[in-house]
Amino acid sequence: MPETYGSFEALLHKLENYEGWDGEICIKTRTYEHHVPTNHYYKRKFNAERSRESGNLEVDIEGEDGQLYRDLSITFEDLKDAKYLISASNFSANNIECQGITPGFWWIYEETPRINAKGGKRRKTRRKRGKGKVFSSLKQLYETLANDQHNPTKIFFKIGNDGFVKEGTLLYLAGMYAEKVLPVLQEGPLDLKRLKWEDLKRGDTKVKKEQDEDWWQYYEEGAKGGRKKTRKKRGKGGVFSRRRRRPTRVTPAILIGDNGNPEPVATTAIEVQNYELDQLLSEINNIRNQMTIEYNNWVEAGSVRGPFYPISPLFTQLEKRENELLTQYYQKLEPSAEIVAYPGQAIGGRRKNKTRKCKNKWSISTNFDAGNIIKKRCETINDINIYTLQIKKDPYPKFTRKKYQNWYYFQVNNVKGKKCKFIIENLVNIDNDWKGHKVVYTYDHKCFYRHSTTLNEKQNYITWNFTPKKNKIWFSYYIPYSRKRVYDLNHKLSKRKNVNKIILGKSSLNNKIELLRFGKGLKHIFMIARQHPGETIGSWMLEGFLKSLFSTSFKKQTNILFNKFTFHIISMVNPDGVQLGHWYTQKHGHNCNREWVKKTCPEVKMIYKYMKQYKGCLYFDFHGDEGCKKHFFTTCDRTKKDKNSSWNFFRNRMKHYNKYFDKEDYYKKAAHNVHGTFDCAWDNALTLEGCMKHNYNNEELTLEPLRIGKHLYKCIYDWSFIV
Ligand SMILES: [Zn+2]
Repeated sequence: MPETYGSFEALLHKLENYEGWDGEICIKTRTYEHHVPTNHYYKRKFNAERSRESGNLEVDIEGEDGQLYRDLSITFEDLKDAKYLISASNFSANNIECQGITPGFWWIYEETPRINAKGGKRRKTRRKRGKGKVFSSLKQLYETLANDQHNPTKIFFKIGNDGFVKEGTLLYLAGMYAEKVLPVLQEGPLDLKRLKWEDLKRGDTKVKKEQDEDWWQYYEEGAKGGRKKTRKKRGKGGVFSRRRRRPTRVTPAILIGDNGNPEPVATTAIEVQNYELDQLLSEINNIRNQMTIEYNNWVEAGSVRGPFYPISPLFTQLEKRENELLTQYYQKLEPSAEIVAYPGQAIGGRRKNKTRKCKNKWSISTNFDAGNIIKKRCETINDINIYTLQIKKDPYPKFTRKKYQNWYYFQVNNVKGKKCKFIIENLVNIDNDWKGHKVVYTYDHKCFYRHSTTLNEKQNYITWNFTPKKNKIWFSYYIPYSRKRVYDLNHKLSKRKNVNKIILGKSSLNNKIELLRFGKGLKHIFMIARQHPGETIGSWMLEGFLKSLFSTSFKKQTNILFNKFTFHIISMVNPDGVQLGHWYTQKHGHNCNREWVKKTCPEVKMIYKYMKQYKGCLYFDFHGDEGCKKHFFTTCDRTKKDKNSSWNFFRNRMKHYNKYFDKEDYYKKAAHNVHGTFDCAWDNALTLEGCMKHNYNNEELTLEPLRIGKHLYKCIYDWSFIV
C-alpha cells in the first residue's frame, strides 16, 4: 500500500511522527538528458525545522566531515505533480533501499477526502444551521472576520484533515472576491495562504475568530429553519433577480445632438477609475491597520533591540506592499506624472488640464507637483522647435517691492533627437541673479544635470538650445523636491522606534503640515525647511542631514545626540506653495518668512503654536539663494552680536567641512534685518542658505546638497560637546 498525504501539513506531520525512523528520505526524480528521461534516486536527511519554516520539503546532505549541509528544497507543487517522489527509507519492515524500489512504495499525493464522503453518496441535504457562527458568502465571511474591534485581523484556521490549527493575519487582496479566496498571512515564515471559497463552503477548510469557539459554518441564505422554505411564487408583474453586479464596462462618452439631450453623456471611465482608486485606498488602509497592529505587537514583545533597528519582517513586508499600492495609486491618479504626483493635487482640483498641446504633438506639461510654466508660442523654424514660455507669477500682495520669481518646472514630450530652443521671456531679474543661470534637466528624476542658458539682460529673457536624448524630459530652475518625497520620507522615518510623526494641521489646499520628533534629550533643536517653496535645495540639504542622522555608520554619534537633544523637524512649512509651483509665497501670497511676528498666515501660526511650548537651544531654517556662489549662514544681527550664540561656531565649522562654504554672510551688504523672519523670531536661530547655482565638479546635482546636510550633522555633533 502506498502512503498518501492530502496536504503539505499532513506530509510533515507524518514524517515528523514516524517511529523507528532515522529521518532518511528516499527521493526519486527524473531529468531529461538529451531528451532521454533518466531517473535519479538518492537518500537525504529530512529537516523538519526548516521545512516548517519555508513551507517546502527541506532535505540535507551529509558531507565528508559527517556534518549535514542544506541540499534540496522541494516545493509542495512539485510533490503534488510527482516531479519528486519520496518515501521514508528504513521505515518499512523490509528496510527498503532507494535503488530499485518498486513504484508502489512511493508516497503519493491524494486530494483530501471530503468531510461528508463517509459512505457512498455525498449528502445532498443542506446542512442545518449549527449553534456557532455562520456565513453565507465570502464577502460576509470576510467582513465578519475583519470587523472585530478587538483584533480585526487575527483568525484561526485549519486546512484539510491534518489536525493542525493555525493562526494567521487576515489580509485584503485585490481580486480576492474574483478569485474566490480568503487570504491569510502566517507569521514567522511569511506564508500567504489563499483559502479557497469552495473548501470553506464545503468545510474542508475551516475558520474561526476565537480559539475556544466552534468552527464557523457555511449555510445557505434562506435556509434558516430546519425546513427548506418553498420558493416564492412568481407574481404577475415584471421580475428581476438579484445578481452579483458585473464590473462596469468602460464606454466612451457619447454626444447626442440638439434633438436629444444636449448634455454629453457622462463617460463611465471616470466612475471606473474612482472605483479602482477606492479599492486601492481601502486596501492601503487595511494594510496600514495591520501595520499598526504588527508594530504594537512588535514593540510589546520587546523585540526591538535598540532605538533604530529595523522592525519585524512581517511589518517590513507589509510596508513594502503598502508602498507598491501607493505607487499604483499615484499612477492611477495622475498618469501623466508618475514620478512626482501626489494625491493631494487631485483633491485640490487645481492642477487639472494644464497640458498645453503644441503643434506636431510636441507638448509641454506642468500637470504635476510644483509644475510652473505658461506656454506662449510653439513654432518650428528651420527644423528647430521653438518654445516661447513664461513663468506663472506668485500671488504677491500688490505693494510688494521685490516680486522675486524664479521657479519654473515643466515636462516636454515627443522630442527625442529634435533640436529644441527654449525661451523664458518674462524674467524678474533682481540683482541680476539670472546671470549665469544653468537650467536643470532630468530624464528620470533620479539623476539631474545642468545646461547653460544665455541671458538677455536688456529684455530680461533667457534662452537655451537642447536636443533631448529621450522623448520625455523635465526642465526646472533647480532640482525639484516634491511633496510626495517629503511625505514619503517622513512616513519612512516615523516607522522607526522613538520617532514620532505629528500632524500640526492642514493648509488651505488640505495639505498636511507634518512634524517629526525624535531623541530624548532635554535640549530642543528645531529645523524647518521650504518656507520658500521654490528653494528646493533646502529639502535636499535637510534630507542629507536626516540620512546622516539615521545612517548606520553614524550610529554611535547619533546615540550621543539623541541622549542630549530632542529634534523637531518640519520638512515642509509651505506645502501649498510647493503644490502650486510658487517661488516665494503660500497660496494667498504670504511670504512665510516675513510672518513670524504678525503670524497672519495659517502655516506659520500653527507651527509657531507648537514651537513656543519649548525653549529651543538651536534653530535652523533651510533656504536657497539664487545669486551667491557659495553656501553660507545668515541670521539676525542680534544673534551675530550675541557672544553666546552659536553663529561663529557653525560658520567656522561648516567652512571646515565644506570647501564651498563661505564663512561670510552673503547678505551682509544687503543689510539683512528684515522684519518677521524665522531667524529673528527665536534665539540662536541660523538660516542655512544653499547656493542654487552650484555646479561643482561636474557631478550629479543632488550630491552637493545632500553633502551639506551631512556636514551640518557633523557640526551639530561637534557642537554637542560644548553645550
Ligand atoms: Zn528663502
